[in-house]
Amino acid sequence: MTPIIVLLLIIVFIVFMVLYKRPVKTGALPNGYHDLLLQHVAFYRNLDEAGKLRFENKLKELLGYIRIHGVKTEVTDLDRLLIAASGVIPIFGFPEWKYYNLRDILLYPAAFNEIDFSNKGDADILGMVGNGTMQRMMILSKPALHQGFDSASGKTNTGIHEFVHLLDKEDGDVDGLPEALLEKQYTVPWLNLIAEEISAIKQGNSDINVYGAKNKAEFFAVAAEYFFEQPELFKKNHAALYDLMAQVFLTGNRI
Ligand SMILES: [Zn+2]
Repeated sequence: MTPIIVLLLIIVFIVFMVLYKRPVKTGALPNGYHDLLLQHVAFYRNLDEAGKLRFENKLKELLGYIRIHGVKTEVTDLDRLLIAASGVIPIFGFPEWKYYNLRDILLYPAAFNEIDFSNKGDADILGMVGNGTMQRMMILSKPALHQGFDSASGKTNTGIHEFVHLLDKEDGDVDGLPEALLEKQYTVPWLNLIAEEISAIKQGNSDINVYGAKNKAEFFAVAAEYFFEQPELFKKNHAALYDLMAQVFLTGNRI
């Protein structure tokens, strides 16, 4: 073998090893991501430097395995960041979490209906996670996504809401009982508390979004929006629920 062939073989071997050993595929963050996140994502703004770096790495990881498609709308850098932030916020407490049940996100230009997902007729859906033939798919309305990160959005955030449905779905059912996240001994207190809180909403004695009274899954999603958007207020007004939600979201070392 001539030295040149040996050299070529060594180069091929090195290139192979570098590619082969490449860790989890990650997506790139758009230019100017730091300022965009500071400006639009309060959760990120409130993290210390180490936390911000961890958040950025999780954004990259998530953007590495999802595909975002604009349907009759352009997907901007800010859209990508807000979608990824919506996914990372609920799982920030979990070092290893991956949304195995998500592949594609469709971004729509407006709220949509459930017949043909157009903005005609009863177009009041802001976001949804797919089932059946739409498995591993999420649909979000672009204005609702942005509104969730407005400082004036109060206790709502459509992106977080839909990603929380995916967390809930991890055990197979979207039922308001995130079995993958909640240790067994908390199941009964959790279900009792949800029943109490739903009944308070129905009697008009709660500041949790009335949509949460629809069923346990919607309750979990709207309560999580509130938990992440206004944690102090949530803790003050719903202390017991806050403690259990903190068990779910902030002590994520079980995955
Ligand atoms: Zn929902």
